[in-house]
Amino acid sequence: MSTYGSLSHHGGNGESICSVLIVGAGLTGLTAAIRLRQANFQVVVLERASALQKLGAGLQIPPNCSRVLRELGVMEKVEAAATAPKALIVRSYVGSQLHHQTINFQQAKGYGDAHLVIHRADIARILYEEALRLGVRILFDARVVDINFDLGCVQLHTGEGMRADLVLGADGEHSVCRHLLLGSNNAPSSSGNVVYRLMIPSSALTADAALQALISPASIQAWYGPGSHIICYHLDRQKVLNVVMTLPAAHGASPTGPQPADVQVLRDYFRDWDPTIQRLMELTELAQSWTLLEHETCWQWAHPSGRFILLGDSAHTILPYMAQGAAIAIESAFILAELLARQRPLGPALPDLLRAFTASRMLRVLCIKNWSKAMEGAFEPVGHSVDWARSWFDMMRDYRDREDHLNEQQLWKESNKFPYPLTDPMVQDLVWGFDPQQAAVSVWRQYTRTYANPI
Ligand SMILES: Cc1cc2nc3c(=O)[nH]c(=O)nc-3n(C[C@H](O)[C@H](O)[C@H](O)COP(=O)(O)OP(=O)(O)OC[C@H]3O[C@@H](n4cnc5c(N)ncnc54)[C@H](O)[C@@H]3O)c2cc1C
Repeated sequence: MSTYGSLSHHGGNGESICSVLIVGAGLTGLTAAIRLRQANFQVVVLERASALQKLGAGLQIPPNCSRVLRELGVMEKVEAAATAPKALIVRSYVGSQLHHQTINFQQAKGYGDAHLVIHRADIARILYEEALRLGVRILFDARVVDINFDLGCVQLHTGEGMRADLVLGADGEHSVCRHLLLGSNNAPSSSGNVVYRLMIPSSALTADAALQALISPASIQAWYGPGSHIICYHLDRQKVLNVVMTLPAAHGASPTGPQPADVQVLRDYFRDWDPTIQRLMELTELAQSWTLLEHETCWQWAHPSGRFILLGDSAHTILPYMAQGAAIAIESAFILAELLARQRPLGPALPDLLRAFTASRMLRVLCIKNWSKAMEGAFEPVGHSVDWARSWFDMMRDYRDREDHLNEQQLWKESNKFPYPLTDPMVQDLVWGFDPQQAAVSVWRQYTRTYANPI
């Protein structure tokens, strides 16, 4: 490697200013950058793109994520750019309602914060502007190609090197950092499903009452059927309905990134589904599709030197069915920054601190990764899950025949079975009720008990 410019230096009062290099200006990297800068770290973010990415579309911000955004001080701006859905509504693929839940959590259930939907570019811009305002240096056209994990050094594609007390690898699901840390066995592969995304202007929906009900009152609406599911919500600021359809990979696949796709594939595939879906697909000729990727659970995030750790999608790609990938990544970025802020100066304690952080996060990440995967069982027609899905639909049909009010809580009481984790109240409590600030305090206590004062 070339010679490295070190970022560490001393402040005016002789205090050592700890430095952190963050690879990737995605939501994970920017969250970590903001919290670390707030704790007076010197922070440089290296981003391979030439400008802030404006890609993507709708993103759900569940309460566990909102809580972090409020701690960062950006929630007011996020709320101004976001939509606050009032309900989560789940239907079977033929249109009968299976689940209705108020999701104004602040008042209704004590999850402590809002459940929002926002355009990804808006939240990225808000985090980016806050990072700049605080004095984070963000370098674009800065692609990391090599890392010396023992020294905390990275090398850019230009040959330039940079060194810091700690390097965070937040470079997403195709992570170069993960590859350098763990070798090539950890490349992501197809999950077996593809997603199609449609962005339908809300002006096109107003003439039809059933379609209008998708945007007003604001809600998150989903349809589940054998093999597939559909989720949609309205983005008020963009005035578009964000629709995501998940299909088996045999029905069109784009191995890399969103690619233009043929809406006719969707019309053919969903021809037996709820007529509302059929009408929705008539309103646009524009779609994008891509393959959903997953990778083997990665058991090692940190390098033993304590100078490097993976964060966000680079450490754990999570299938999007519970809308938790970014939320969990943002939680992790926040908790790690809180721990580092308490461990000043960084140095010999770092390997233990990163170990404590990893141990504390692994279980939660694994649970959510597995629950997200289990969501496939609600619509995936293979193996065990086909019985699961079928028995669910059969039970729902029985309820409908009896003209009972279809309600999952009721089904749970009678059958002792929730069809999928997203609507299970116990899972919701664990996932949405999580408090990252409290979690950071408890990891710190545990860390100081275990490592700082060993018996
Ligand atoms: C269809 C779909 C829907 C989803 N919906 C939701 C949702 O509703 N809610 C939710 O919480 N999550 C959702 N997710 C998950 C979420 O999108 C990801 O978990 C999140 O974006 C990960 O952020 P990240 O910062 O870790 O990675 P990324 O967003 O991938 O950012 C990585 C950054 O690193 C940069 N980079 C890469 N390589 C290098 C390099 N070598 N050098 C320098 N820079 C580099 C990239 O350019 C990029 O800017 C969804 C995912 C999908 C696929």
